[in-house]
Amino acid sequence: MTLGIGMTSMRTRIRLVNELRTMGISSESVLTVIADVPRHLFVEEALASRAYENTALPIGFGQTISQPYIVARMTELLLQVVNNESSDLPKTHSPRNVLEIGTGCGYQTMVLAKLFDEVTSIERVTQLHRTARDRLYDLRVRNVKYILGDGFDGDPSDASYDFIVAAAVSPDVPSRLKQQIKVGGRLVMPVMTNNTQNIQHLIVVDRRESGFKESVHEQVSFVPRRTGIL
Ligand code: SAH
Repeated sequence: MTLGIGMTSMRTRIRLVNELRTMGISSESVLTVIADVPRHLFVEEALASRAYENTALPIGFGQTISQPYIVARMTELLLQVVNNESSDLPKTHSPRNVLEIGTGCGYQTMVLAKLFDEVTSIERVTQLHRTARDRLYDLRVRNVKYILGDGFDGDPSDASYDFIVAAAVSPDVPSRLKQQIKVGGRLVMPVMTNNTQNIQHLIVVDRRESGFKESVHEQVSFVPRRTGIL
């Protein structure tokens, strides 16, 4: 990386963080991590100059790197649980684990890895899975486990998670995913709320002793969930 790119990127990163703040992201820890993660290293060189724009960009295989606002918003929704006094999760710092569905280029994976203790990330496209794993290794991110598979079936080892986040839209919240949320934990994912008009919303599922509580958040635009391994 040349000094020139480094400096441009520092200014543009600050501009991006300010934009996200204006859009309503209020978690300082999320904003700090967004400023810190080198998004230009997650897209091909020809797109690097646009890496700090608040937009999705192509990463091949008809997929996109998620828009920074959405990554920030989903992560902030997870952190709300950690900071919430009435949450069922233990207050003493116990390690928090996150399951991510749709590794893609690994951008959100790195954001999560900086904020939580352990991340397990599932991707169905072999080449994206490998490239993201190698990229995050080069970036010295060591607290991530990468799985090639269909993430909407959940973690194949049937582990349970404090947090689950998905980056591809699904017709509903799969029950296997719900079962893998720990009591006190939270899942955030896009769900198709109107199929004919392709309207999607972010859905939050909280798991309590008493059962599941679902809430509907903002309208979003994600690539569709696909099945099988490519
Ligand atoms: N957060 C990622 C988002 C990538 S787009 C990023 O910023 O790069 C969504 C990703 O979900 C794509 O990589 C796509 O291949 C993956 N995906 C779609 N269906 C999937 C499934 N059933 N299991 C795992 N990954 C899936």
